[in-house]
Amino acid sequence: MKLIVATHNEGKLVEIRRILESGLGQDAARIELISAGSLHLPDPVETGVTFQENALLKARDVAERTGWPAIADDSGLIVDVMGNAPGILSARWAGHHGDDAANNALLLAQIADIPDDKRTARFRCAAALVVPEVPEVNELHPIVTDDQPGRRYAIVSETVKIGEMPGMIIREARGTNGFGYDPLFVPDDQPGRALTDGIDGRLTSAELTSAEKNAISHRGKALRAIVPAIERLVR
Ligand code: IMP
Repeated sequence: MKLIVATHNEGKLVEIRRILESGLGQDAARIELISAGSLHLPDPVETGVTFQENALLKARDVAERTGWPAIADDSGLIVDVMGNAPGILSARWAGHHGDDAANNALLLAQIADIPDDKRTARFRCAAALVVPEVPEVNELHPIVTDDQPGRRYAIVSETVKIGEMPGMIIREARGTNGFGYDPLFVPDDQPGRALTDGIDGRLTSAELTSAEKNAISHRGKALRAIVPAIERLVR
């Protein structure tokens, strides 16, 4: 079965493949993961006001256009003292979409006066699976793009799950792995190699390996939670 990942970022496709393969076990061999970008599908405008709405609208658009089941995720950082901001605006908090350095600098400035024990935060991710009417295994379907308009496929089911990774925002960036706010975020769940219990000895999510982060991350939890719904499609 083809399963289309609603992303134009091949790095995200690799990360989602790793997480799903570990959750699906032997069923993984029966699923061909393809990115929406490689099918030249447009990226829909994220008009939702929650992570769930945005994940669903991205997966729905791809399933309606391709006639294949589609998954999408939408995520962001929630800082308690900021009233849950930056939230769905995480990628463009400083004004430009995806400017991680500017986003991190602005966040640090905004909570500069907040004491360490009040700098609690969490990443949240919604993962959605949307199944269209004709998910026949190995059958070819015409794909609806802006260049090739046509009738969209009807949707028969939608599943959306939430995952969260709680932690704290530190005062100086540490680590070079990951992306976004990872260098400022110390997860509560620490792998065995954290140095000490104090905040200075704990690892940021940018100091974790991708396997360590996937095991505890919001994205890992949300995607693993939709694995049973994917399994029902291939069994
Ligand atoms: P997306 O929905 O996965 O594209 O994430 C939107 C934005 O939220 C990103 O541009 C980051 O600023 C932030 N974000 C989401 N997940 C993470 C993460 O795992 N680490 C760091 N930043 C993240």
